[in-house]
Amino acid sequence: MKNAICTFCGNVCDDIEFDGTVGKNLCPIGEAKFAAKRRMEAPTIEGEKVSYEEAIERAAEILVNAKRPLLYGWASTVNEAIKLGVILAEKLGGIYDQCSSVCHAPSTLAMIEEGIPGGTLGQAKNRADVIVFWGCNPVEAHPRHPSRYSVMARGFLTKGRQYRHIVVVDVRKTATAYLATEFYQIKPGYDFAVFTALRSIVNGHEDAVPDEVGGLSKEKLKELADVLMDGKYGVIFYGLGLTHSRGQDRNVECIVKLVQTLNRQTRYILQPMRGHFNVVGAGAVAAWEAGYEYAIDFSRGYPRFSPSEFTAVEALLRKDCDAALIVASDPAAHFPKKAVERLAEIPVIQIDPHPNVTTLLADIVIPSAIVGIEAEGTVYRMDGIPLRVKKLRETEYWSDYQILRLMLDKVIQMKGE
Ligand code: SF4
Repeated sequence: MKNAICTFCGNVCDDIEFDGTVGKNLCPIGEAKFAAKRRMEAPTIEGEKVSYEEAIERAAEILVNAKRPLLYGWASTVNEAIKLGVILAEKLGGIYDQCSSVCHAPSTLAMIEEGIPGGTLGQAKNRADVIVFWGCNPVEAHPRHPSRYSVMARGFLTKGRQYRHIVVVDVRKTATAYLATEFYQIKPGYDFAVFTALRSIVNGHEDAVPDEVGGLSKEKLKELADVLMDGKYGVIFYGLGLTHSRGQDRNVECIVKLVQTLNRQTRYILQPMRGHFNVVGAGAVAAWEAGYEYAIDFSRGYPRFSPSEFTAVEALLRKDCDAALIVASDPAAHFPKKAVERLAEIPVIQIDPHPNVTTLLADIVIPSAIVGIEAEGTVYRMDGIPLRVKKLRETEYWSDYQILRLMLDKVIQMKGE
């Protein structure tokens, strides 16, 4: 099978060759996913093996009897399954939340305020002569990004590394910094101040900039502003270094404004480095269905968005949820301790191909087919480009879509709708 798709990170590399057991062209983390052997053998209720039908029926009962169930995860499955998840949350009067509420949610808030001067990875590959990585480290988090879309990628206008100026801005010297033409080390929590200084310089107000901002001298800031302004087509990639440091969504708003300012003189686009392969879909599908990307509450019969109340972590900490359906995610490995303790107190249904930390506290475990290897569907790459993931081998595991379809039917039946 040629041109198969790797469903690990937001790069969604679509040039994988698969011979039935091994994938070619994968990076080490993608290879680990394709080679993963640990699976859950069959659905279980309280550790007892049962059929898919029995597990789904019991799960539907728990969800229907809950006052306000939490439906969380979704970033590692296909859009078709995510759509069923949003409908299920609405039918149940529950909360729909997804993985970006603990990663790029501040980007969503910033985009609601400011919009995004966005583009595609194809534009970065084919046109960008200046590429900036700000608070992100693709060499370790998206390993094929530099060769496929950015640093070394060969495009129509930029035929390799020597045609590009690569800038890395971070609080420490990351693996990506070693690929850079220039590395600028700033103080943690000073991104907002550095963006503001750069905007002043680009706007011709360098007199307003103090001698040092965020660990960079005024000379260094002017040098960086010159590099940005000299670009004919620039791309700024940013990561959790912005969304999870002081300022959060205000950092992202400020970098959007910097790109808007640069666009008065040249052409720049901005791209968040999204993590899980379909985390964009987990937000986009919810937005089509309910108008919001995450932290959506349906308890009043219509969707309400409030990140300070309806993200999974907030809902668990406030004990607002009395059951949870976790799909294609491992919150017990990533949430704060108090939120995980609450998860352990309530009935948890997990749908996932592989056992993980959440499996240890789940009451019902429903193993699913691996998306991109055993199940097909549509996903979005980090830049919003839709790609069709293929089924590469047969399996007896049910897909997320099949499991959720039957669960939704059972819920509708039990509610008498
Ligand atoms: Fe898979 Fe990401 Fe590696 Fe590409 S860069 S092969 S999508 S893990």
